[in-house]
Amino acid sequence: MARLIDGKEISKQIKDELKEEVGRLSRKGVKICLAVIQVGKDPASSVYVNNKKKACAYIGIDSRAYELPENISEEELVGLVERLNADDSVNGILVQLPLPAHIDEDRIIRTISPDKDVDGFHPVSVGRLWLGEKGFVSCTPAGIIELLKRSGVEIEGKECVIVGRSNIVGKPMAALLLRENGTVTVTHSRTEDLKEVTKRADILIVAIGKKEFITSEYIKEGAVVIDVGIHRDENNHLCGDVNFTQAEPLASAITPVPGGVGPMTIAMLMNNCVESVRSQEES
Ligand code: NDP
Repeated sequence: MARLIDGKEISKQIKDELKEEVGRLSRKGVKICLAVIQVGKDPASSVYVNNKKKACAYIGIDSRAYELPENISEEELVGLVERLNADDSVNGILVQLPLPAHIDEDRIIRTISPDKDVDGFHPVSVGRLWLGEKGFVSCTPAGIIELLKRSGVEIEGKECVIVGRSNIVGKPMAALLLRENGTVTVTHSRTEDLKEVTKRADILIVAIGKKEFITSEYIKEGAVVIDVGIHRDENNHLCGDVNFTQAEPLASAITPVPGGVGPMTIAMLMNNCVESVRSQEES
């Protein structure tokens, strides 16, 4: 039976550590402010934005909400981001994605100053990550590294296989595992004989966006399995990209859905907000 990697508990530990650090900074007169921009009223985005605001409140980070109408123009949004870039009282800028179709998401991401890019999506942040330089790292893969480290899973020298090559999960995950000296393989929809590749994995990270796609045939006995996917099953319960019932008896450790990777994403966003101040304190 696999050990459960408890993302809820680990994310709580991280948030408590950050709360203490923010308290210490606050006593020195250093405040942290995150600007959160939401365009339109997509219900899923509203839930994410609210969770981010709640996490900020818990930790002691000031969150400034910008709720903009669905029909706002791209120029107006660019203008707002530029004003926030120039505002010294704002440390981090987050634009909740997806944006409405008439707005060029890439342009908005590129407008955010790399020094305030707490989502880690700006090309400069991505470049810094691959070069091994200091910078903001995409929150979900950063959270997975914390999950592994805090669960005592050794990465160095291990065969790490990632299923999925998205810009927000698969690719930055590869860079982070390399940084930890893992031996990394990235698979995708054109990979031939996926099962043969995933069965080599000591650490298997699945971000494919297909409900319960990874069954027992894809998993080596004793592997650590990290499931990034979020879906609803036929009973409206949350489930992942991994078939948990089949994977759990084979794996040595596994993340559940919910309560695995999900809570880590917000914890790492909060860490990035604090990091924006840490780097200023150091410089
Ligand atoms: P994307 O849809 O952007 O990427 C999916 C990747 O999976 C692509 O690289 C695609 O390959 C690959 N893929 C699709 N089908 C196959 C297949 N049959 N075999 C091998 N590879 C395949 O997804 P995301 O990375 O954005 O998200 C993945 C999942 O994680 C989703 O369920 C999403 O909801 C969830 N998620 C959860 C987060 C959290 O906080 N827990 C955060 C972000 C995402 P190709 O490139 O060739 O098309």
